[in-house]
Amino acid sequence: MDTDLDRIAALAAARRDEFEVLCYTIDLLEDELPDAALDALIDQIAAPIIAAIDCTRCANCCRSLDVYLTPEDAARLGEALALPPAEVEARHIDRAAAARMGEWGRLRAHPCPFLDGTLCSLYPHRPETCRTYPALTPDFRWTLDDTLDGAGRCPIIYHVLDALVIAIEALERSHPPESPV
Ligand code: SF4
Ligand code: SF4
Repeated sequence: MDTDLDRIAALAAARRDEFEVLCYTIDLLEDELPDAALDALIDQIAAPIIAAIDCTRCANCCRSLDVYLTPEDAARLGEALALPPAEVEARHIDRAAAARMGEWGRLRAHPCPFLDGTLCSLYPHRPETCRTYPALTPDFRWTLDDTLDGAGRCPIIYHVLDALVIAIEALERSHPPESPV
């Protein structure tokens, strides 16, 4: 499975229109593929892709994404860094930028300051968003814009969308639109 980040970025850019049509089609298929069924399909498609991709050799999300934090995340960071909460906030957390996005806090720096090569230096204490990324389910249908934006950055997302194109085409063939009478 291709995990070369330059190639994934180029492929995702070249297929952007195709993936946008996919998202539009998924919106239209709400009756044939309700949210729970769509999430189940995504989990089925994603499982072998996630198993085949070694995130410890990639870390592109850690280099490129905003990491939003909760107070609980900040407390865990303090534990890992052996710093009091005020010091963690002063050094690492941008509350103002996060507030503009309706969030509690955000790590200040890109790449993430806790990234060591391609590994997380405080993995057991990492924030919740790091644990769930790329967060394909639940609610795949309602987070499609974020997923689409991640296709050029995350090989898992790219390959899930690639496989989903084929799965949705098969579904459309099995549910052809009714002909006008
Ligand atoms: S805290 Fe760890 S997992 Fe989260 S972005 Fe930083 S390096 Fe990556
Ligand atoms: S979640 Fe995606 S971008 Fe992050 S390390 Fe894994 S493959 Fe790379």
